[in-house]
Amino acid sequence: MIGIMRFVHENLPQRVCFGSGEAAANLQREIGNLGAARVMVISGKGERDLAEGITRELPVAIRYDDVVMHVPAEVAGRAREAAAAANADALVSVGGGSTTGLAKAIAMTSGLPIVAVPTTYAGSEATAVWGLTEGARKTTGTDPRVLPRAIVYDAALTVSLPVPVSVASGLNALAHCVDAMWGPKADPINAAFAVEGIRALRAGLPRVVADPFDIGGREHALYAAYLSAAAFASAGSGLHHKICHVLGGAYNLPHAQTHAVVLPYVLAFNGPAAPEAEQRIAEALRADRAVDGLQDLRDELGAPRALRDYGFSENAIPEAADAILPAVPADNPRPVDAADLRRLLRAAWSGADPRQQAYA
Ligand code: NAD
Repeated sequence: MIGIMRFVHENLPQRVCFGSGEAAANLQREIGNLGAARVMVISGKGERDLAEGITRELPVAIRYDDVVMHVPAEVAGRAREAAAAANADALVSVGGGSTTGLAKAIAMTSGLPIVAVPTTYAGSEATAVWGLTEGARKTTGTDPRVLPRAIVYDAALTVSLPVPVSVASGLNALAHCVDAMWGPKADPINAAFAVEGIRALRAGLPRVVADPFDIGGREHALYAAYLSAAAFASAGSGLHHKICHVLGGAYNLPHAQTHAVVLPYVLAFNGPAAPEAEQRIAEALRADRAVDGLQDLRDELGAPRALRDYGFSENAIPEAADAILPAVPADNPRPVDAADLRRLLRAAWSGADPRQQAYA
């Protein structure tokens, strides 16, 4: 058979401004481009000083720090009211995925433009996906209005991100890359982004662990965070993200750590059924086999190991497997049944060596 490349790829319309120590100048230009005169600056309490330092020259109407992980609906409601009361005409978010998520919740109902300044590797800034939590239920959706108009990446803002958070967040980005290789809308352009993202994370994360103030290491990780999210936004959620979405939503597990733990088991499961993707992931990780390369990196980084360390109970495995099964993408590289999911979850729960997992 002749190999024919045939695909439709969509790039999201965003400006990406990258430069260490240049966030203030880049923000001023991007807010100027929007013609905004009343900016709402959103940052978590811990990142408030960081945000103030780069927004002094902006026409700030309100500074807002009521940020909560997974954007509870009442938190979104209060933030929307604050934006309206301040008559804000643009949003600047400075922080991780939780902060970007709050800005998206405001943009969703107000249409206000966002300029995002990410300080973790979660990648929400490069997607049009919003998330809201009501009670224990997390709802997500896609809306072009929540896509930040511009992203300002400044690695100097990330040196304070603690090493364990950096590792978990970096592996969250790696999970975007790996899942993009076999997501429902995977295409050669996503794959090119994803492979380069894996390469940059492989190079950057060990440097971050060795020295959190190493700007070069931080730049590699931040650059990879963008590539990973852009690849993932285009390819869509694969098996890994479907599993983590259920685990995060139903069992309130921490986002980045859950991704960091589950990824090697999904790679061990899917890799043999997707040999071309597996080989490209392996090469980017500088290993013969992808799962070996990932484990070597995880060992080097002291990565999160087991779901039981994050409050997931062994008793919940059958129920979680049943909840995940209907969400498994139809075109996953190999068929998945409830027994496969139970085995995968049990291994992830206990932290068993993913290299030893035989999924017959
Ligand atoms: P987070 O935003 O909650 O940040 C994690 C921790 O790091 C927080 O305690 C925060 O205060 C701290 N922090 C952030 N930047 C710091 C810095 N520079 N220095 C010191 N501390 C810093 O977590 P996250 O992993 O970035 O984001 C997770 C959230 O984002 C989840 O709700 C997830 O669902 C969402 N998310 C959404 C998308 C999307 O496309 N919509 C993509 C990825 C993640």
